[in-house]
Amino acid sequence: MSEDFTAYVIERDETTKEQSASWKSVSTDDLPEGDVTIRVRHTTMNYKDALAITNKSPVVRRFPMVPGIDIAGEVVASDSPDYAVGDEVIMNGWGVGEVHWGGYAQYARMKADWLLKKPAGLSGADCMAIGTAGYTAALCVLRLQQAGVEPGDGTILVTGASGGVGSFAISLLSSLGYTVAASTGRVEEEPYLKSLGATEIVDRKTLSEKGRPLDNELYAGAVDSVGSTTLANVIARMKYDGVIAACGLAQGFDLPTTVMPFILRGVTLAGVDSVMAPKARREAAWSLLEEHMDRAALAEITQEADIKDVAEIAPKLIAGQIRGRLVFTVD
Ligand code: NDP
Repeated sequence: MSEDFTAYVIERDETTKEQSASWKSVSTDDLPEGDVTIRVRHTTMNYKDALAITNKSPVVRRFPMVPGIDIAGEVVASDSPDYAVGDEVIMNGWGVGEVHWGGYAQYARMKADWLLKKPAGLSGADCMAIGTAGYTAALCVLRLQQAGVEPGDGTILVTGASGGVGSFAISLLSSLGYTVAASTGRVEEEPYLKSLGATEIVDRKTLSEKGRPLDNELYAGAVDSVGSTTLANVIARMKYDGVIAACGLAQGFDLPTTVMPFILRGVTLAGVDSVMAPKARREAAWSLLEEHMDRAALAEITQEADIKDVAEIAPKLIAGQIRGRLVFTVD
């Protein structure tokens, strides 16, 4: 097939190194290599997409680039035995939107290995509302479960609670029967966080300053998307055998901690990566979301937005002015 279509393209002037982005007409012949071509139906905006669009951080590593790290759509051409024309698929991560054209376009071409069949119990729009944030939250919850943390063991602390990962982690954990404490800098979001399933709100100021190497044993587990001093204080507040799933760096990438919680309380710090996670782990995360994501909470978290407005939305997302998750329909 050869067809012209519309894509949001980030380009760079190789002399001035200035980056610019605009909607352009491109051809399916220009799509990157891959064995499956997809008609994109829905996408979303993650923090990483906003960084790519605004060039606040060097996310894009190949130009020209189409941003959009999450895609839901249907297969329109396939050289893979695993996918047939008409199959509904989803894709998260794999360097898409960084080194491989992503979802802010009517068409995308991917390696079959990167794709998953869309879970039957979720619509394409639901999958994009969940997106990398929700899928990462699910990977974190799986990590706690695999480490043996059970609802009866005690409270699970979620940091960065009103962010994307935090919101989904609260909802999933609560649906699975865990008691959840939500750490947030936006205490005015208490009603929202409680509607997702948190029973206790922790002011993030109590975690963001340097604390003691060992503090009171409060939590059986944690999902941390904040890193830095916050994560150090979370580690210090773990109960004996507590487990932390660490996935983010909203406060910083440093980790000023000691070995004391590990050698005296048997605490486990478990890292979580969504971008290169193997297929079986992705399928487990999406099954967890399909089965346990509360649909009312999903609706509460989700806002429809117009993909034509991505340039205006991106700086707002970086400034923390957008709550929850945006879904774009790609017409
Ligand atoms: P969001 O921007 O939606 O949420 C981050 C939240 O962190 C904010 O809402 C805020 O929550 C809190 N926060 C922000 N700044 C600070 C600060 N200086 N100190 C303490 N808390 C802060 O981002 P996401 O939820 O999408 O992503 C969270 C993190 O996880 C990011 O660092 C992201 O890069 C990372 N990530 C990692 C992935 C992986 O594969 N490992 C995948 C996806 C995301 P509140 O206002 O409630 O305090």
